[in-house]
Amino acid sequence: MKTILVTGGAGFLGSHLCDALVTDNKVICVDNFFTGNEKNIKHLIGNPNFKMVSHDIIMPLFIPDEKIDQIYNLACPASPVHYQFNAIRTIKANVVGTMNILGLARQHNARILQASTSEVYGDPLEHPQKESYKGNVNPIGIRACYDEGKRCAETLMFDYHRQNKVDIKVVRIFNTYGPRMAKDDGRVVSNFITQALAGKDITVYGDGKQTRSFCYVSNLIMGIVNMMNQDEFIGPVNLGNPKEFTILELAQKIIEMTKSESKIIFEKLPQDDPIQRKPDITLAKQKLGWEPKIELSEGLRTTVSYFKEIL
Ligand code: NAD
Ligand code: UDP
Repeated sequence: MKTILVTGGAGFLGSHLCDALVTDNKVICVDNFFTGNEKNIKHLIGNPNFKMVSHDIIMPLFIPDEKIDQIYNLACPASPVHYQFNAIRTIKANVVGTMNILGLARQHNARILQASTSEVYGDPLEHPQKESYKGNVNPIGIRACYDEGKRCAETLMFDYHRQNKVDIKVVRIFNTYGPRMAKDDGRVVSNFITQALAGKDITVYGDGKQTRSFCYVSNLIMGIVNMMNQDEFIGPVNLGNPKEFTILELAQKIIEMTKSESKIIFEKLPQDDPIQRKPDITLAKQKLGWEPKIELSEGLRTTVSYFKEIL
């Protein structure tokens, strides 16, 4: 049985990751509940394999009485609304926070996996995006606290690996959705579903022709865990669903699925919003034998059921 620490473990992805790990491992969940929710982990409280540590990773973290084998570093707000709410804290979580967690990995001689993002490619000029693409990020824009923060976190991972021999893994996660997304987090899937279920206008930003590729959460978690548990390859590796949809297609799909009377309205496109995004997952297939299996329609059905239940 391994001891595994998950930062951001009370969030959307982190809580699904804790679920996947807790049967066979001892899991320490570290979270400051900025965007996480106690409800996401309440079913784990009382499980002898699960421990919750309330902590902000911007502050150094010491776990003196356990030997940690693996660390998943997910602590960082992920929705543009949340990460722009306090941009300086977002940069700190990515830079100071990642340094603190790398320090912890070093002390415990633990393997550490960094949850990076497709945002490191910015508004990409190469399509689909391969890991070799260096990106097109505006360093002074409103998304930079997240994009540049995550780019710096990748740099830190590789420098700790080269300089201090820390055992690292880096995954670049593309848009992921599913149950336990926060209903008010402003991301497109949760916004459209909550709007459709309430019969409110569906807010498409820009002309809706921008694209994203949506991966269902259980598929993504499997990819992350595969990456952590192989020895050959440190990454970075893209994890996401290569099927690409326009935002307008997504809105129409959700309206159809929920049989909603909602109308689509068009609002201003936020600054630096990427025009197209689709992962090339050749490397993930080769190195991890991983590819997502769940189609958007199937994943959306489960997600709509979840939101019906909580709203
Ligand atoms: P989320 O906002 O639901 O989860 C983030 C969690 O981190 C929350 O529980 C939050 O309270 C916690 N957190 C934030 N700052 C913290 C801090 N300073 N100290 C301790 N805890 C802190 O978002 P998510 O979608 O679950 O994303 C998890 C990770 O995956 C993030 O690092 C995000 O950048 C990355 N990611 C997610 C997606 C996606 O589509 N969901 C895509 C790319 C990358
Ligand atoms: N979007 C939208 N309406 C919304 C929320 C988002 O049209 O209510 C668009 C947003 O402008 C972007 C895409 O949907 O083009 C995905 O946005 P999200 O915030 O989910 O993630 P991103 O990939 O931009 O980080």
